[in-house]
Amino acid sequence: MLIDSHAHLEMKEFDSDREDVIKRAGEVGVAFIVTVGTNLALSRKAVALAQKYENIYATIGIHPHDAAKTDNKTFESLKELAQKQKVVAYGEIGLDFFRNISSQDKQIEIFGLQLELARELNLPVIIHDREAHQQALKMVKASGVRRGVFHCFSGDYVMAKQCIDLGFYISIPGVVTYEKAKTIQDVAGHVPLSSLLLETDAPYLTPVPHRGKRNEPSYIINTAKKVAEIKKILWEEVAQITTDNTMNLFGIEASRGN
Ligand SMILES: [Zn+2]
Repeated sequence: MLIDSHAHLEMKEFDSDREDVIKRAGEVGVAFIVTVGTNLALSRKAVALAQKYENIYATIGIHPHDAAKTDNKTFESLKELAQKQKVVAYGEIGLDFFRNISSQDKQIEIFGLQLELARELNLPVIIHDREAHQQALKMVKASGVRRGVFHCFSGDYVMAKQCIDLGFYISIPGVVTYEKAKTIQDVAGHVPLSSLLLETDAPYLTPVPHRGKRNEPSYIINTAKKVAEIKKILWEEVAQITTDNTMNLFGIEASRGN
């Protein structure tokens, strides 16, 4: 059994064959998919998918790229949305100082507000951090939030250790299958399995051997196998422990489809 802890099934890239994508994931043993909102409209779509499909859970939040487009009304709507069934986390939220689609000041302001909101809603957080490691860690520390995941982890092992010490999980994307991705391979090798989650971040970051195509949750198995190869253990063990970790973080119970 596997879980894709982070996908974007609500995005338009899946509009033509979403049903098939979800079916294929089930066929390779992906028991649950967490589909992650990145703005208000897509968060609504993510929640609607979770209502429709038993094996899908949703998260809500404003991605740093969309920080400049938010106002108080956005947050009022997200608060309401958080009350819906099967909303299991707040995010993805954070800082992207690589692309800087919103200004860094605005990103910092909106990230701070959303860390507070997640705390108020008592939801774990999904952190997006690109080229902003120190600032992201500093803000998470100051916020008092101690439950969540650094998604699509891009730091080194020293940073991973700091995140784990704060109570966070490290999520390994398909990037780990790329030959040149030595830093994330090192992180996957050294971080104990008890602190790891797996994700596709579909439609992005497609693992080998599908690289070049659109990513989808069924490809998570390639990431599980690569982590197992690095750790020199069975991939089934990687699948089981990361599944347990994801269910634990997001409060998903296998027997109840809620
Ligand atoms: Zn994402």
